[in-house]
Amino acid sequence: MRVCPSCSSENHIKSGIINNRQRYKCKDCNYFFTVDKIGKKIDDYYVNKALQLYLEGLTYREIERILGISHVSILNWVKKYNIKRPSNTKYHPTYKILNAVELGEYFSNPLNIKGAGAVVTELGDKFMLIQWERFRD
Ligand SMILES: [Zn+2]
Repeated sequence: MRVCPSCSSENHIKSGIINNRQRYKCKDCNYFFTVDKIGKKIDDYYVNKALQLYLEGLTYREIERILGISHVSILNWVKKYNIKRPSNTKYHPTYKILNAVELGEYFSNPLNIKGAGAVVTELGDKFMLIQWERFRD
């Protein structure tokens, strides 16, 4: 996820192209920053995250929404790395995007983690908690 180098906010708008690089303006602190234009190789970090989420049972569209990566790219990586997951129509995880404090609060309540599995994965400056309730029903 693209964040402002000045304040780490994800809240920004496109603001022209400078030297073939997309420029953004942070809506929170008004800082201008640029990133390489689309076409640059996507960081392996996102490839790993996308495949991780795919294995967790998320759909291409969900991964696209979370990571901001085209579902077509994700589909191509799944093919490229020959990732297969068992077909299971009943299993589908729920997920939450939390910051470090919220994550701590979540885990401090035993009811939240009882009878359910959870994995936490870093996501930009926040964390994603994926949870499933395999033994319910
Ligand atoms: Zn900012």
